[in-house]
Amino acid sequence: MLHQQNLTVNAAGHLAVGGVDTLDLAREYGTPLYVLDEDMVRERMGLYVAAMREHMPAGSRPYYASKALCCKALCRMARDEGMGLDVVSAGELYTALAAGFDPADICFHGNAKTEAEIGYAIESGVGLIAADGEEELLRIDTLAGALGVRQRVLLRVTPGIDPHTFAAVNTGVLDVKFGEPIPTGRALAVTERALGLGNIDLAGFHCHIGSQIFEAGPFLLEADVMTAFLAQVREKTGYTAGILNLGGGFAAAYEESDTAPDCAGMIRAVGERLAAKWAEYGYPAPVVLMEPGRGIVAAAGITLYTVQNVKHAPGGACYVALDGGMGDNPRYALYGARHSALVADRAGEEQSRAVTLAGRCCESGDLLGENVALQRPRTGDTVAVLTTGAYTYSMASNYNRAPRPPMAAVRGGRARLIVRRETAEDVAAYDL
Ligand SMILES: *Cc1c(COP(=O)(O)O)cnc(C)c1O
Repeated sequence: MLHQQNLTVNAAGHLAVGGVDTLDLAREYGTPLYVLDEDMVRERMGLYVAAMREHMPAGSRPYYASKALCCKALCRMARDEGMGLDVVSAGELYTALAAGFDPADICFHGNAKTEAEIGYAIESGVGLIAADGEEELLRIDTLAGALGVRQRVLLRVTPGIDPHTFAAVNTGVLDVKFGEPIPTGRALAVTERALGLGNIDLAGFHCHIGSQIFEAGPFLLEADVMTAFLAQVREKTGYTAGILNLGGGFAAAYEESDTAPDCAGMIRAVGERLAAKWAEYGYPAPVVLMEPGRGIVAAAGITLYTVQNVKHAPGGACYVALDGGMGDNPRYALYGARHSALVADRAGEEQSRAVTLAGRCCESGDLLGENVALQRPRTGDTVAVLTTGAYTYSMASNYNRAPRPPMAAVRGGRARLIVRRETAEDVAAYDL
C-alpha cells in the first residue's frame, strides 16, 4: 500500500509524509494541497549528480527538466544540489533567473521558440540553446548576430527509437515534432549548415527519446545511435562534439506493481556503453548531460483533497467527489495515467474499496482515477493521491475558474509553503 519509504502511518493512524501528519498539513494550508517532500527531492537530485560524476566523463551532470515541476523553490533546490536546469519557455527561464539560477547552467529547449524567447535567452546569457532544427538555427544565428553574441547551441536530433511508453509522450520516434532525424540524413545536413553559421558555436547534440523508462535498454540504444552519429559527423565534417545531451525519461513508480527504477545503475550502464563506443570509434569522450524531470520529483509529491460526497451510481461504481481534479492534475484525463490513493485519516486500514475518484469540474472526464483501491471513504475525509510531484502543478489550469492549489514543502519534519494558494481575485486579475 505505502510503496514509498517516505510515506508512513503515524500513531494516530494518519498518513505522514517525511514525518509530517498530512491532516495537520490539510488543516494548516487547506485543500486541495500539493505536498512535496523536499528531503526526497534533494536526495534524488544528489543521486543523479553523484552517479553522473562517477560514471561519466569529467564535467558530466544532470540538468533538472523544470517542466516537470517549475517554481522558484525547485530551481533553488536544483542549484543547491549542483544540477543544471532545462527550461522550455520564457516563463520557465524567468522563474529560474528570478530564483537566482546561474544562466550559464541553463539549457533553453522548445520546438517552437518565438523570436522574443530566443532573444530573451541570448540576452540572459543562457549557457546553451537546444536548436530544434534548421530554421531555428538560422533564427538563433541572426538574433545572436544582432546582439553581438556567439551563442553556444546544441542541435536536437531524433534517433528514431521507440522506448515503448505512452505514445503521447514518446518523442524518440521519427514522426514527431521534435528535432532533425538522424536516419534520413537530415541531422547530418543540418549539422553541416550549423557549422557554417558565424554567430553559432555548435557545442554538441541533444536528443530525448521519451518518458517512463524503467530500464537502461532504451538509453543504451540511444547511446549506440548517438555515438555512431557523432562518429559519422566527424568523418564527414571533421567536427568533434564537446557535449552529448541524452535527455530525460527516467521512470517513476506510480503504482504498487511498479518497481522504482535503479537510476544510478542505469547511468552506470550508459556511462560504460558510451566509454566502450568512444574507444571503438577513437573519439574523445564528450561531456554528457541528462535531463531527469519526473525521476526527480514525481515520487516526492502527493496531493491532498477533501471528500465532498460519496455516491453509488446505479451501475455499481462508487464515486468519491473531491475538491480538486483535472484542474490540478490532468494526467488521468490526458493519458489515463494511474495514481494510487489513500484515505489519509485511516491510512493504516485495509483498502477494501475500488472507487472512482471524481474531480469538481463540469466535465464527466474529470476523474483522477477509476478502480482505485481505497479505505472506506466518508464525506470530510482527506484523500491523498500519491506520486503527483511531476506534471501536475506544472500542467494545472484554472478550468471552471478554480484557483490553483498551493504547494507545501516538507523538510526535516517541518513544512513551509513554497507556492501560495491562488484566489478568485488572482484568477480574475487579467480580466478587463
Ligand atoms: C520532457 C523532457 C525532459 C524530461 O522528461 P522526464 O520524463 O520528466 O524525465 C527532458 N528533456 C526534454 C527535452 C524534455 O522534453
